[in-house]
Order: sequence, then C-alpha cells, then structure tokens
Amino acid sequence: MARITVRVEPRHADNTPCYHALKPSGRPCDPRSGCPGRTQFAAVCSEHGDVGDPHHVKVLAEPAAVAHRQEHRAALAA
Ligand SMILES: [Zn+2]
Ligand SMILES: [Zn+2]
Repeated sequence: MARITVRVEPRHADNTPCYHALKPSGRPCDPRSGCPGRTQFAAVCSEHGDVGDPHHVKVLAEPAAVAHRQEHRAALAA
C-alpha cells in the first residue's frame, strides 16, 4: 500500500500553493517573486487532497492534518 502523507500547505488568497521564501514577518523575501502573500493554510492528504476547508492560521491547520493522519492509521488497523 502506498504511503499516505498529510501535510500543511501554505496558500495564497486565490488558493494556489505558496512555495515562496518568506521572511518571519510573512512578507516575501524577494519582492520580485510575485508572491501576493500567504493568507491561509490547508491540510493536504496525498490520497484525498484537501482535508476540510483551509484555515487562516497554521496552528489550526496542524491539528486538522494530525487528525486526518490518525484517521488513516485507524483505518489501517481496522
Ligand atoms: Zn507565495
Ligand atoms: Zn486522506
């Protein structure tokens, strides 16, 4: 069975993934990168895609990712 990973992915306001390097302040390191800034965080499962709705703060997306990971673990154990 393929290994399933659930991670938290930063997103822009238009729901596209943000892979830009950001300063701790949340502003892009490179103003020319075209990054509009991160506004939300989504828990993403390698099998199911987005888990629930995106969260506006990372601390809320992390528990969603952990909970989904545990659901997979429980399903495997059943
Ligand atoms: Zn970005
Ligand atoms: Zn899943």
